[in-house]
Amino acid sequence: MTRIIAVANQKGGVGKTTTAVNLAACLAEMGISVLLIDLDPQGNASQAAGVDKHSVPTTIYQALLGHVPIQNAIVATPYENLSLIASTKDLVGAEIELSALDNRAFYLTTALKPVIPQYKWIIVDSPPSLGVLTLNALTASNGVLAPLQCEYFALEGLSELLHTIITVKRSLNNNVNIFGVLLTMFQHTLLSRQVVDDVRAHFMNDVFQTVIPRNVSLAEAPSYGMPVNHYSPKSTGAAAYKALAKEVLTRE
Ligand code: ATP
Ligand code: MG
Repeated sequence: MTRIIAVANQKGGVGKTTTAVNLAACLAEMGISVLLIDLDPQGNASQAAGVDKHSVPTTIYQALLGHVPIQNAIVATPYENLSLIASTKDLVGAEIELSALDNRAFYLTTALKPVIPQYKWIIVDSPPSLGVLTLNALTASNGVLAPLQCEYFALEGLSELLHTIITVKRSLNNNVNIFGVLLTMFQHTLLSRQVVDDVRAHFMNDVFQTVIPRNVSLAEAPSYGMPVNHYSPKSTGAAAYKALAKEVLTRE
């Protein structure tokens, strides 16, 4: 079965894109065929995976709305086993167009269907909202990975995300579950440690053992269009995402 993971949290800047790109790249490095879908009009995942989003003729926008077969929107990245569907700010338009349509939650599900057998993992990077794009990601996926920043207010908004997942499961996609909560940007401070303890007490086994540290290589890598395992393979950030890739395979 293909694992389709939506990386989601409506809170901004918690490490969704960093996680989607680096997890995808670390799985690909292990020889697993991965499709990374950038479902955020910001297009950050496309750039971070080494693709110039402005040079891609067909993006998720056309594929999502069914204007072209999704196969036409898939591009190779510079990295073996890692394919991408890019996004640009056009996708803001899709958000508006979809909002007016019946079955608006099912467009990604429908578009994706023909290419699912080509990949072992499909990872969808979502925008920081619970709008129609994220709804499409949740409806098309069989697991949600929610990054949580190790900061005060980390849990804020998470209940809303969980509630949305339950609603999607009940009415749109019975296959969706929480794949895991990922603690990100950990620092060796009392506050970070308290957040880790609180989140583990609350979500127990749903929290990944792997914790992503705050690491400068993770912040620098996107500007070179390189996932961290290629940009700085010996960094603590690369080690963490490699460990996460191994851990997610045990949860398959
Ligand atoms: P948005 O909600 O805007 O889509 P996001 O949740 O996708 O944001 P990212 O873009 O992954 O979050 O991360 C926000 C910023 O923090 C980026 O500049 C990123 O490079 C940086 N960052 C993410 N994770 C780490 C980390 N572990 N260590 C250092 N910097 C990080
Ligand atoms: Mg992002």
